[in-house]
Amino acid sequence: MSADSEFDLIARYFDRPVPAGMLGVGDDCALLSVSPGCELAVSTDMLVQGQHFFPDVDPRSLGHKALAVNLSDLAAMGARPLACTLALSLPGVDHAWLQGFSDGFHALAGKSGCPLVGGDTTRNPDGIVISITVMGEIRRAHALRRSGAREGDDIWLSGSLGAAYVALLLMQGRLPADAARLQASRKAMEWPNPRLRLGRYLGGVADAAIDISDGLLQDLGHILERSHCGAELRLDALPADPTLDGLEEAVRREALLGGGDVYELCFTARPQRREQIRALGQQLGVPLASVGTITRGSKARVLDGRGDEIPVTLRGFDHFAQATPPGASTPTHGSLS
Ligand code: ADP
Ligand code: MG
Repeated sequence: MSADSEFDLIARYFDRPVPAGMLGVGDDCALLSVSPGCELAVSTDMLVQGQHFFPDVDPRSLGHKALAVNLSDLAAMGARPLACTLALSLPGVDHAWLQGFSDGFHALAGKSGCPLVGGDTTRNPDGIVISITVMGEIRRAHALRRSGAREGDDIWLSGSLGAAYVALLLMQGRLPADAARLQASRKAMEWPNPRLRLGRYLGGVADAAIDISDGLLQDLGHILERSHCGAELRLDALPADPTLDGLEEAVRREALLGGGDVYELCFTARPQRREQIRALGQQLGVPLASVGTITRGSKARVLDGRGDEIPVTLRGFDHFAQATPPGASTPTHGSLS
């Protein structure tokens, strides 16, 4: 990589001290230990320029978000972060970009107790590709699997829905320009906050969990499929982000049910757990809303205030089901057809 060798870049931007007992950047492998009685939880997510982020996005927020979306998977499993690795492919060496990206990355890594312990750095003329692997630990048999939902479970959501989708629509010009709404909504898109503490407390309390990356209906659909269940969702109970206020009803629904990039947790739990879950939300200062019920069947049905079913056709976000070819597309998550 020109005057700056790959090793200079690694030393300058990515090699950071790691906790005692761990081996970090610099050897052939990193070394970690898992606490007794725990299993290792591992997850990888990739972010591709033009697919997942706009080329001119603030590199600090990109560094934050790239790690945040991975930590969100640990949260959804109920795992505590241990460490992460970063594979980075760059068209060239841009020090301002690397400084911003690594600052955003390390700030969240430090705050989340998830030190960077290794990775790979390569050149790719076609654009930036970021692949992060997070590792966490979880008490044996306490993982929140997608397959654990049972008929009669309540369906819960943390936080609010739709803000990142509204920001996306505004940035793509699919909603009329609205500077105040964009300012309020783009923080959700660029600085998601993984629900790590909530996820850890839900271990042994919830039956199943998932983080919402591709849209509520699509991600809840993964729980239903794995758990061989159906669901009823109460549209009125869905926690709409305030940035949805005043939008046309069809757009609101699309944002609530199909909007992606949410990184809140959707989990199911026995009705007997209601008080405990409400108390947990208060203790952690995380809004938790009960939004529906796990049923027999295999589909999610959306009900209006009178209990009547609202027809929805959902496409959600699928990288291989887009009309536009990868690379030519604008970054998008969650869309209804
Ligand atoms: P190897 O040839 O064994 O794959 P590399 O030369 O690719 O090793 O990397 C040297 C060291 O720097 C390794 O410890 C590797 O994990 C680490 N590393 C490389 N790129 C990154 C990165 N982007 N972030 C963190 N660590 C990195
Ligand atoms: Mg390597």
